[in-house]
Amino acid sequence: MTYVEEVMERVKKFNPGEPEFHQAVQEVLDSVAPAVEAHEEEYRKVKLLERLIEPERSISFQVPWVDDNGDVQINRGYRIQFSSALGPYKGGLRFHPTVNRSIMNFLGFEQIFKNALTGQAIGGAKGGSNFDPKGKSEREIIAFCHSFMTELFKYIGPNEDVPAGDIGVGAREIGYLYGQYKRITNQFEGALTGKGLLYGGSLVRKEATGYGLVYITEEMLKAHGKTIEGATVAVSGSGNVATYTVEKAQQMGAKVVTVSDSNGYIYDPDGINLDVVKEIKELRRGRISEYINAVPTAQYVHGKSVWEDVVCDIALPCASQNELKLEYAEGLVERGCYAVCEGANMPTTREATDFLLEKGILFLPGKASNAGGVAVSALEMSQNSMRKRRSFEDVDSELHEIMKDIWEQVRSAAADYGQPCNYVMGANIAGFRKVVKAMREQGWV
Ligand code: NDP
Repeated sequence: MTYVEEVMERVKKFNPGEPEFHQAVQEVLDSVAPAVEAHEEEYRKVKLLERLIEPERSISFQVPWVDDNGDVQINRGYRIQFSSALGPYKGGLRFHPTVNRSIMNFLGFEQIFKNALTGQAIGGAKGGSNFDPKGKSEREIIAFCHSFMTELFKYIGPNEDVPAGDIGVGAREIGYLYGQYKRITNQFEGALTGKGLLYGGSLVRKEATGYGLVYITEEMLKAHGKTIEGATVAVSGSGNVATYTVEKAQQMGAKVVTVSDSNGYIYDPDGINLDVVKEIKELRRGRISEYINAVPTAQYVHGKSVWEDVVCDIALPCASQNELKLEYAEGLVERGCYAVCEGANMPTTREATDFLLEKGILFLPGKASNAGGVAVSALEMSQNSMRKRRSFEDVDSELHEIMKDIWEQVRSAAADYGQPCNYVMGANIAGFRKVVKAMREQGWV
């Protein structure tokens, strides 16, 4: 058995019943195997891979709160502090009923390498709860967020661990979490990012993941003699990442024809009207099916995924893990799609990823393509430390440079290892090399 195979066995043995975590580790280990082989003796001696796959600290806690009927509800909270090799732990909080240890471990593990690619000094973490914000009143959301922070505050801080948002956690939830953190600690400091602009938030944080995705997609397309201008683009999801992906893609001249939620998708042959999406999702917190009330020429398809029938040049999955399955990928390629760039974390299954790579489709994995969000979170941290506010243009142009730099790292690492178009390998190796270098320089901790 190779070292990588041994470690994969170990992951499965010590984390049974965690398929998403196994999937994320398998992808990284398969990609970095050639880089590991070259130093196998040293890495085995210091148990490098065994360390990387074990969170430095893993916290799970109960979150009691009282609903509008006066009944007590109990949820489970998590914070997985995976790696501090490069800086304070950093990664989002997800509130969604599907949250469990496997999802937290997969997201925390991915975050290590993503954060490394940003070039910012941030380690990898993830957290959240199986709480479902959908259908809850404002008071219930506040009650839950305050209770969640009443435990979490013990483990975070501006130089220790700085959570941000993710699915189900936007500026509203970050505000409630921050309010409670401040109350308990008596500190007004950057212990969370994605904050409101009035109390330490950064301009461009809201837009960062989506804008960054489009910036890096354009870099990859340019390198292959293409451009997003004039392309037909399909986007899944209609949350934070999807909304600002649509915005930037449209600004750069693409025609975006779809958005979705977990109930179905909208196809608008005239191009998605983003004002309508923002009004439904950001102002009214409604469902995407309502889009056709404002745009009757669009179609709403209930109970299906965008990826089942859309015709597009470029696919940008921005909803959730494993949404783009093999059969959908086969259909996309048959219908002429030539690029897939992940806005969500691991939205493409392993089988679909392998298929797309085999077919020569330009494919960028989320840990490179959606790193813009965490990169601007790191810029928010530095603004908080300096008590300084940077302008929109200033942060946006730094985000753009960071995404270009990530593209360059991914491209050159793939080329170094003889697979110039395998950007999954490029992203994993580029991130891995930085984390390993930092661990070595700190005496293998
Ligand atoms: P939001 O909660 O704002 O939006 C999530 C969107 O995805 C909603 O439209 C939601 O629909 C849809 N969705 C969620 N689960 C499913 C599912 N199982 N099937 C179909 N649709 C689904 O989250 P974000 O936009 O912040 O996050 C989206 C993805 O991007 C996640 O994978 C997240 O980890 C990743 N990401 C987010 C970053 C950020 O800065 N926010 C940074 C990097 C990555 P519904 O309302 O019906 O649930």
